[in-house]
Amino acid sequence: MTTEELRESLLMAPKNGYTRLNDTQKAEMEAYCKRYMDFMTACKTEREATSWAVQEAEKLGFKPYTIGMAVNPGDKIYYNNRGKSIALAVVGTEPLSAGANICAAHVDSPRLDLKPNPLYEDSEIAYFKTHYYGGIKKYQWPTIPLALHGVVYRKDGSVVTVTIGEEASEPILMISDLLPHLSADQMQKTLAKGIEGEQLNVILGTTPLEGEGSDLVKLAIMKLLNEKYGLIEADFQSAELTIVPAGPAREAGLDRSLISAYGHDDRVCAYAELEALFAIQNPRKTAVCILADKEEIGSVGISGMRSEYFEHFMGGLCDAQGVKLEDCFAASFCLSADVSNAFDPNFPETCERRNNSFLNYGVSICKYTGARGKSGASDASAEAMGHVRTTLNNAGVIWQMATLGKIDQGGGGTVAADMANRNIVTVDAGVPVLSMHAPLELVSKLDCYETMLACKAIYLA
Ligand code: MN
Ligand code: MN
Repeated sequence: MTTEELRESLLMAPKNGYTRLNDTQKAEMEAYCKRYMDFMTACKTEREATSWAVQEAEKLGFKPYTIGMAVNPGDKIYYNNRGKSIALAVVGTEPLSAGANICAAHVDSPRLDLKPNPLYEDSEIAYFKTHYYGGIKKYQWPTIPLALHGVVYRKDGSVVTVTIGEEASEPILMISDLLPHLSADQMQKTLAKGIEGEQLNVILGTTPLEGEGSDLVKLAIMKLLNEKYGLIEADFQSAELTIVPAGPAREAGLDRSLISAYGHDDRVCAYAELEALFAIQNPRKTAVCILADKEEIGSVGISGMRSEYFEHFMGGLCDAQGVKLEDCFAASFCLSADVSNAFDPNFPETCERRNNSFLNYGVSICKYTGARGKSGASDASAEAMGHVRTTLNNAGVIWQMATLGKIDQGGGGTVAADMANRNIVTVDAGVPVLSMHAPLELVSKLDCYETMLACKAIYLA
């Protein structure tokens, strides 16, 4: 063998995904990303993503699942967990004792939740107090257009949905920052302290009602909310209202190869899983798509991936087939579909180039996440990695290996450990992201598309 032949047969030669896509595939990628951007513009909270999934699933013949319902091969069902997370399945021709092929992503993203008593007035400006949710860099949130999304359970027991700041005709909201002229002290602080949690107060208005009192601007804002949504101040006590970046998902870059949006983490994988599930008919094994909530704060709570709602759903399906849930889990596979950090040439010192994901190199497969000595990681086995490698290669999916940055630089986790703890073989995989957890994140169209193809290959494995 020549040196060249040896090199080709023995060494890896990663290539930019664009070298592997033909024109038809590029057109499919563009069409896919157009649909993805529409989804992102419409869905900025876990509730909105869950409702969207229900609506689209029903159009495609998915039926709401109730425990005890009979299910047959080919059936398409969904199990809505209180409007905040959802599991959808296409029932396989093989029984659940053969295991399910699961893709699990999350649909919550870092944001600013309203405090339970949010409305106040200071210096004749009305504000909302917020409490940040998930890992944010607080300094990124002032001076950008913001929108209010959520639901309120009113005094009379009715629930109203609130969205303000997305339509061009609607006002946006904003948080102020200090002018540089007077920032001598602020500029000496660290990035972590330059803007503090209690300064993330959202400006609501400045027009006082006529009359006497020190609350005339606050009262005017409450009057507006009452006229539009029938709210009184006490209704904030039974509300989930959240502040998110305003505006649609957009193409980015002069070549339009990127997508800018709020909350790619992790709706980019959630959408990939959903579209992949919607495309399959009569899989051999039952295909399950999970859109989980609360990943950004540890997957805890009733709508998080640790919740027994998943056992309730899968246990119901297993009971109908006379299969033990434990046996189903033991034979199942889960792709924990969550984003990775794309290599950023602006911050090369934070990554180890030989083991980082890159934009346009396809869906990134992560053997482990965690921090320091892999602490908190679900470290996938050689066999699990082999299953994914073979499955994706056989399906012609463009993929790459990834780790989360340089050792001891930080770390993170996904729902992988929660799935693996259920005795389900699990591997992390997802879309590489620039500016992860920032109000606007960037992903490449190619990686989005390949992640959808990866999910489809896993469902059909
Ligand atoms: Mn994530
Ligand atoms: Mn995240």
